[in-house]
Order: sequence, then structure tokens, then C-alpha cells
Amino acid sequence: MCAHSRARRMSDHHAISATSALTHLECAVCGERHNANVPQTICRECGRPLLARYDLPGARRTFSPSGLEGRRWDMWRYAELMPVLDPTFVVSLGEGATPLRRTPRLGAAVGVPRLAVKEEGGNPTGSFKARGLSAAVSKALELGIRDIGVPTAGNAGAAAAAYAARAGIRAHVAMPRDTPQPIIDEVRTYGADLTLVDGLISDAGRLIAEGCVQHGWFDVSTLKEPYRVEGKKTMGFELWEQLGGDLADYLIYPTGGGTGLIGMWKAFEELEAMGLLGPERPRMVAVQSSGCAPIVRAFEAGAERAEPWADAATLAPGIRVPSPFADDLILRVLRDSEGLAVAVTDDEIRAAMGELARTEGIDACPEGAATLAGLRRLVAEGRIEGSASVVLFNTGTGLKHPELRARG
Ligand SMILES: *Cc1c(COP(=O)(O)O)cnc(C)c1O
Repeated sequence: MCAHSRARRMSDHHAISATSALTHLECAVCGERHNANVPQTICRECGRPLLARYDLPGARRTFSPSGLEGRRWDMWRYAELMPVLDPTFVVSLGEGATPLRRTPRLGAAVGVPRLAVKEEGGNPTGSFKARGLSAAVSKALELGIRDIGVPTAGNAGAAAAAYAARAGIRAHVAMPRDTPQPIIDEVRTYGADLTLVDGLISDAGRLIAEGCVQHGWFDVSTLKEPYRVEGKKTMGFELWEQLGGDLADYLIYPTGGGTGLIGMWKAFEELEAMGLLGPERPRMVAVQSSGCAPIVRAFEAGAERAEPWADAATLAPGIRVPSPFADDLILRVLRDSEGLAVAVTDDEIRAAMGELARTEGIDACPEGAATLAGLRRLVAEGRIEGSASVVLFNTGTGLKHPELRARG
């Protein structure tokens, strides 16, 4: 082995010396406690999502700005608050630790000078789904699971396929037949078992649920599996590191299943409980497409649950989620943060993709571009003030969407 690769291996090994403080799983709705040392999906009492709980005072002994210095530069740097107990089970492709890019030119154009973009397009498999699936596949491996089932609008399937390949387990993926071809090709390239369905992610979900019953696959559906949200929450830790504890006034997030919104909110709560963050919070903003906006509709109605959206249609696949399983948790985050919810049209999304590329060199996915379209609307409606500091989430790369790119 050459000296260089030996040094790399040693630093990989050294970097995860902090250990997970995971204690148990807790139902997000009824509070019922569940064992985290066996595979779990939803709450056995009430059927709602389970969330990972940690010994936070214990974690605090090593989790601090100085304690994080010099650690590996990916999302597993937050090992104390990640669910994998034995670091040898961590399945990593270098996810997380993404740039927070100041975007003054775009900010001036929108009338919000203090604008930044959390750029998730550089993640493995080209979207922030890598974070969630790295966490879920790692924990599945630790629990001895060999087959995972993944209903997806696209990107979660690609990420699941890649992490399953890296882990040496099987991913069974179901996604809509009209998913952009590069994403379909990605899943096949990583060797996953892929089924295309005539329908939406909800139809894929039914198919995977059957496969789980018939073949014993483990269902890693959004928020029916407890650990994808732990991967996504690391975006919250990164913002805290990148912004020095003074978080933005608004976080604008393209909301499908809601994992990122719920996860970041959880990260802020954990940081506060450890005394690393004050009580101030960003206002969380959910952006959806006017062709599929169940959360926006429910939020505007003041409802605690969202009704399924009929005939969902949008060019942004990641937010084409007509009936998010954790609707109640998403709505709770929006309410608790005094947040906002806004729907934008496909035309606005297209225009925003071009604007991000031309003004800031950001090749955004349509879901990420939707956050810019949402910000424009909220500023125009006077709901976000020009003096605010705002972070947009570009959740994936535009390269997966040849159908939406400038031609010529
Ligand atoms: C899945 C996805 C979303 C939605 O994320 P959630 O956390 O499930 O709400 C947004 N953008 C892209 C690119 C996605 O793949």
C-alpha cells in the first residue's frame, strides 16, 4: 500500500473516534418508547413516525465547536448524534459538508441582499438524499438487514442504490415511470432491483409495502424508517457551524416528504438542549408546486393533517408527493417556527433555474429552484422583508434534468 493511501485510511479511522449517544426511539406523536437495537418502522401504538433520541448530556462531553475541529469532513463528523453505534458499519460515500454559498448578485436581484444557498448538488448521487440514505443504510447494516425496499420519486432510489452497493446489500426500488431518465439510469447503474410504476410515489409505496410483506425487505420509506431524518438533520448542524450559531431568519426548503424540515428542526432542538444554541430559531418555509401542494393547503387552512392532493403534477419530481406520511410533523415545524408555506408554478420554477445558473453559477435542480421562486413570491407579497437573512436549499444538481436545460 502506498504511503498516501495508508495515511488516508488512518485518518478515516481516526476521524470517527467520538461514539454515538443513541439511547432509544420515541414516537413523535404519542411519545411511546421503542428499542433502537432492533429494526423498527412506525410506532406500534399509534402508527406515527419514530425519532431517534440520544443521551444529550453525554454527547455534549465531546460535541462542541472545538470538539468537532479536525474531524472527518462529511456528515459523520457529528458521530455522537448519529444513530450508528459501531463506526465500522458507517456506509459513506462522502455525503454532507456541503458549501453554504453567499449569493450577493442573486440577493440584489431579489431584493434580499443577505441571501445564501446551501448547495447540496455536490453530494454523492447528486442530491441531498445521499444524507438520508447513508444514515438509513448504515443503520440497516448494523441491524443485520440485507434487503431494503424504497418507494421514491427518484433521488432517494438513486441514493439507496448507491449506498446499498457500497454496503453489499440489496436495494429494491420502485419509482414513477415518468421519472427523468438520468435518475432511472442511475438506479440501474448501481445495480438495484428497479420497478417502474404507472403512477406516483404513493403507488410505488404500495408496491414496496407488498414486497416487504412477501419477501421480508425492510421498508425505508420516508419517515416510516426512523434514520433517514437523522442524515438530513446534519444540514442543521452544518448551518450552525457555517453561520457561527447565528442562524438565518428564514430557511426556505422544497418540501416533499419533509425529512429535511423535520430533521433540521430536530438538530436545532438537540443543539439547544446541549446549550450550544439559544432559543432563537429560523422561520421554516415550505415551498411546494402549485400542482402538488398538500402542505401549503393544510397550513393555510390551519389544519393539523394534510389531505392527499389529487392529480399531482409538477416538473419537480422530489416535491411531487401528494400525501406525505409525516404531514403532521411538517405542519408542526411550520407552526412552531412561525414559518410560512408557499406554492409556485412550474413556469416560475423554470425561470428560477435559469436565474440561479446565470447570476450565481448554480446548476440547480427544479426543486432547489422552487425555493428561489418561493422567495420571490414571498418578497412580492411582503411576507419576507428585504432586511432578512435567508438561506435557500438547492437540494440537487440540474444535471439530472436534461429536459429542463437551456438548449442551443
Ligand atoms: C426528495 C427531494 C426533495 C424533498 O425533500 P424532503 O426532505 O423529502 O421534503 C427536494 N428536492 C429534491 C431534489 C429531492 O430529491
